[in-house]
This record gives sequence, C-alpha cells and structure tokens, in this order.
Amino acid sequence: MLELSQPLAELEWLPRAKLIPLRRLGIETVRDLITHFPRRHEDRREFARFPREESDQPICLCGEVVKTQLRRFGGWKKIFEATLQEADANALSQPIVCRWFNLHYVQKMIATGQRLVVFGKPKLRGQRICIDHPEFEVIENDDEISIHFRRITPIYPATEGLSQRVLRSLIYRILEELNDLAIEEVLPDEFRAGTRAQALRQIHFPERAKALTAAREHLVLTEFFEMQMLIAARRFESSIRTGAAHCGSGQLLDRFLRALPFDLTNAQSRVIAELRRDLRSHRPMNRLLQGDVGSGKTVVAIAAMLLAVEAGFQCALMAPTQILADQHYAVLNRWLEPLGLKLALRTAARSEESFLPLITGEEDPDVIVGTHALLYETVSFQNLGLVVIDEQHKFGVVQRARLTSREPAPDVLVMTATPIPRTLTMTIYGDLDVSMIDEMPRGRGKIVTAARDNSKLPEVLIFLRRELEAGRQAYVIYPLIEESEKLDVKAATTEYELWTERLRPFRCELLHGRISPPEKQAIMERFRRGETSILISTTVIEVGVDIPNATVMLIENAERFGLAQLHQLRGRIGRGEHKSYCILLSNDPSEETRAKLAVLEKTSNGFEVAEADWEQRGPGDLLGTAQSGLPALKLGNLKSDVALMRKARTAAMQIFEDDPRLEAPQNQRFRQLVVEQQGRTFSHIS
Ligand code: ADP
Ligand code: MG
Repeated sequence: MLELSQPLAELEWLPRAKLIPLRRLGIETVRDLITHFPRRHEDRREFARFPREESDQPICLCGEVVKTQLRRFGGWKKIFEATLQEADANALSQPIVCRWFNLHYVQKMIATGQRLVVFGKPKLRGQRICIDHPEFEVIENDDEISIHFRRITPIYPATEGLSQRVLRSLIYRILEELNDLAIEEVLPDEFRAGTRAQALRQIHFPERAKALTAAREHLVLTEFFEMQMLIAARRFESSIRTGAAHCGSGQLLDRFLRALPFDLTNAQSRVIAELRRDLRSHRPMNRLLQGDVGSGKTVVAIAAMLLAVEAGFQCALMAPTQILADQHYAVLNRWLEPLGLKLALRTAARSEESFLPLITGEEDPDVIVGTHALLYETVSFQNLGLVVIDEQHKFGVVQRARLTSREPAPDVLVMTATPIPRTLTMTIYGDLDVSMIDEMPRGRGKIVTAARDNSKLPEVLIFLRRELEAGRQAYVIYPLIEESEKLDVKAATTEYELWTERLRPFRCELLHGRISPPEKQAIMERFRRGETSILISTTVIEVGVDIPNATVMLIENAERFGLAQLHQLRGRIGRGEHKSYCILLSNDPSEETRAKLAVLEKTSNGFEVAEADWEQRGPGDLLGTAQSGLPALKLGNLKSDVALMRKARTAAMQIFEDDPRLEAPQNQRFRQLVVEQQGRTFSHIS
C-alpha cells in the first residue's frame, strides 16, 4: 500500500526527470505532493462568454487560436500575439487577443488551430480586447483530458521543468492510488466534519465549489491544529520542568527604585508585580514582555534581576547586538554597582568560526550581560536563576532554548519592542505568558513625523541645522540594507563625506556593521557625550539605543524599509524632554510607499503600526519559521482564518491540558518534537 511517508523516488512510474523540479518545490514524499495545494481553481465546466468590456477581475476563457503573430517594437523587443475565437461564436462575439512580451517560449507552444484555456484580465486596447500575459493551457485531446478540463480544475504553483499539466496529472494519479486508510486523521473527532482523506481529494479536484470550501476549512484547521499542538506541547514540557523560586525579599529592589530619578509608570509597576509572582513560584517562568520602544522595559528587567540576585542567583541578560549589549552593560553598571552587585560583559568576535570571547568585568558576577556569545557559553553559569532576553524577535526559539533549557530550569523573561498583533501572540508566542507595558513615561517630548519628497532636501537641511544649533543631535539613516559587501563600505564613506559637507561645521560620524566592535563602541560613546552631533548610520542603530538629546531621525530612501523597521528607527528619538522629528525622505511615488509612510505620519503607537503593517503586508514575515520554530503554513492565513486558529487552539489545549492521557501517541509525537528542538533528550514519563 502506498504510504504518505513514501519517497516519490520509489515510485517506478514516476519519470525520473521530474524528481529534480519536484524537489525544487520542496516535494519529496507522497505527503509533500498531496499537500502541494492549488493556488487557485478554474471552473472549466462551463467557460465565460468572451467579454466585450474591460474587467479588473481576471476571467477564465476558452477559445480556438485563429491567428498568431510576432511583432517587433522598440528595436529588439518582441511581442507575440495569439487571436482567440470563442468556440461557438455568435454574431456578437468579438475575438480576444492574448499578448506576451519578450517571452519567446510562449511562441513555441501556441499554434493556429489549437484550443486554449486562458486566465487573465481583459483590457481595451484601441478597438481590441486584449489580455496581456495570461496564464494559459493548451487543450490536448489525450485520454487525460478529463483530468484537466470539464471540471473545477486546480492550478498549482509550478516550476521550470514541471508544467501545470504534469503536476496535475501526478497529483491526480497519487490520489487515485492512495487508499483512504493511508491518510491518518489528525483532528480529534469532535472538531472535524468528514475525513481528512475526503478533504485532501476535494481540495485538489473538487466536485462542487461548496466542497472546496469545506475541504479547505478542514485542512486549514488541521494545519493550525498541528501548530497549536506543538505550542501546547511546549507549554506542557515547560510546565513539567522543575524550577525553583528565585525571589528575594525585595530590599535591593526598593533601594534601586528609591534611587531612580523618576517614578515608575503604572504599567511598569504592574509588570514588576507580575514578574515577582512568577519569580516566587516554583514553576519556571516563561514570560514575554511587550512594550513599545521607549516604554521603559530595561528598568523592569533590572527589577526582576535584583529580586533574583537577592535570592542568591545569577542572572544573564542577552542582547541581539554588540552595541546593545554595551549599552545595557553601561546602564546596569550605573545602577547596580552602587547596590554592590558584580557585573560582567561577554561578547564575541562577529564570526562564529573565529570565536573570540571578550570578557570584561568581575569574576563570579551576579549579572552577566552579553550577546549571542552567551549561547555558546564557555563560561559556565553559576546557579543561573533568571535569563532576560532583550529584543526577542532577533532570536529564534531554538536559540532561546540553548540558554534556557538547562536544568534546573531558570526563569525566562523575553522582551520585545516589536508589538505583535493579538492574534499572532496566541500563535507564535502561544507558549508564553504575556505582560504588557502599554503606557509611556510622562514628560516625553512629542514626535512629529513627516514624509517628504527628496526635492525637499534643502528645506530639510535648514531645519536640521536649526536643531543642531539649538544643541540637539541627529541620526541620519542611509539606505544600505545589506552590509556584507565591500562596496557598501565605499558607499558608506561617500555618504559620510556628503553629509559632513552638508552640515559643516557640525561633526558627523559614521556607523555601520563592518566597523569593529571596539571602534563602534567608541563612536557611540562620543555621540552619547555629545562630541559628535550627527550619526550617519545603517540600521545597526535600529534597536534599543537610548540617547535622549538626539531629536532628529532622518531616513533616506524610506521606501526601502518595512513599517516595523521604520517605527523601530523612529523609536531612537523622542526619548528626552525635547520635541523630536522623524523625517522620511523618499522619491517613490507608488501607492504602497505612500500608504506606508502615511501610517507613520498618523500614529506613533507601535501597536497601531503593527496592525497597519499586518494589514498592508500580511503576516507572512512575522511568522518566520526560523524565528518561531513552527512549521511554515501551506494553506492557512493567520489573518483571514483567525476563527479557525481559535478553534484549533481550543482543541489542542483541551488535549494537552485537560486530558489525563498525556501518553496518547498524538501528544507523544509533539512532545518529542519540542524536546528535539530544544536539544534535550526525550524521556518518556508515565
Ligand atoms: P525600551 O523599552 O525601549 O527598552 P528603555 O528601557 O531603554 O526603553 O527606556 C527608555 C528611557 O526611558 C531610558 O532612558 C529610561 O531611563 C527612561 N525611563 C524608563 N522608565 C521611565 C519612567 N517611568 N519615567 C521616566 N523615564 C523612564
Ligand atoms: Mg530596550
């Protein structure tokens, strides 16, 4: 019997030459093939009449090729035209012209007399109705015609060397050969209608449009359910780990709070109370702290660390970049040294091959601050009680686990300034408890954001000078995203000279990813002390840097950055009492860019930005597989299928949290997966 896990290479009837393009699509097994879902369907039972007007909706038509023509334009460019006549043409019907520009292979595939199915948007071009670059399929009268036509036909993501037609035939045949019994059910009975086998057959070759909807729902739910089971398993695994209480009496914390030059916001106090409760408990803490840039997460992290240190434990604070680790170390030194705490900084040379631990600070420290270097700890922690991970989205689940899966389990606090829409919190971070700082410290200067065309640069410069003359400082973010190339270093230097010239006599300095860590640190320090007025930088400046006197953030080629990133960059200003200005320069007139920049002009609230980002871009990027350790979604849409996600979550939670049969094979499978991801060994508990 054909099994889902069977490699396609073992199927003798499958042409060897197709294995390579299949692999390119990530398809190696029977399961991969039948979960290669159609990107859409065409109803080829009855075709639409040839239109006589334009349409913004693509339509599916069938007709006979009555004429083909290759024309040249603009010298070397070619345009191939195929004129289609409606099959049972009546007097009213007008032929349609399909056009392809510079695609010479199309010309080899289409000939007069053939019947074609085309899919695209009809547009009026002079007197003619044209469809430019339609998707098309030639009707060949073979015995497979019933697979491809006269039905609701699946259209797949295809690739070179693997046409729609071949792919469709393959999937058709596999589904024919596959016994329903080989397709195991995933969803618990009470959460499903029909079987998974039916759903899989119907999503490819639906009998009716309705059946397609039902099949999709079933499969999306299946996909979400597996994701939620993995999350529930993570939750369960961490709940059975043995931890310890890591909470002192709070005297150190009180001394720290008394010494602070400001009062905590209500939100900060509330979160500290939540952390205190977690630290007191023996259950390992697994908490996500969300708070917009500048909301004051560091103070909260310090509070938690003080409680743990007072109870006699060591703490680790991990930051995603050298600059941030340096900054945290400086801030912590300022606050914690007077309280008698010992600190150390562990960072490392950039590349992993040439691992050079750089150690600063004291022996036997209470708090170790560091970068990724902490993950590859040559340092063995002493009695590690609390791990704080800053800007959590920069680290993946698997990386995080390297630091936190040790025994006995430390408490873990991950902090992020990238607000995550609620629906995503219950998916990606569904295994974490969530705390939120939803309030900004008082007395923050307002941030005004303005998007400007590059032609306005002279006025922007006049404005910038005024701020500098008033004693403020500025960031200029220049548009290099990839920082790996030598070329970029050259471009950076050019950029630097340009700005030095423009803003003379104010001092500029240049910061980018290829500057050595000690040099970077020195540059930041000079900027912090106000010795330099302008920092010309790439996005290395993005997260966490905190210099209250900097009030202008000028971003060149703003269209190249994502909304979330622009918001992060903007978070570098508005940190002191002065009014701040974010200027987004761009020459891109596209609707997309205009909409993006308009969001930032309208709001400074990170959650609103995140929602808008999601609206405009879809959640794809947020759910990076590497980041979340979760399988990539093949079918479900985190936004439009949110009701199904809720349902899947309920199902998974019920199974894991209320069901005494934790030994059920389903649960074992997911628990094992989680444990493997965390690099631990799976011990069967009973
Ligand atoms: P983020 O949440 O972005 O990490 P930080 O912790 O770096 O923010 O805090 C930003 C700045 O706000 C720091 O200079 C910090 O000292 C200051 N800050 C934190 N909490 C308060 C508060 N309650 N009132 C005033 N300033 C605060
Ligand atoms: Mg921070």
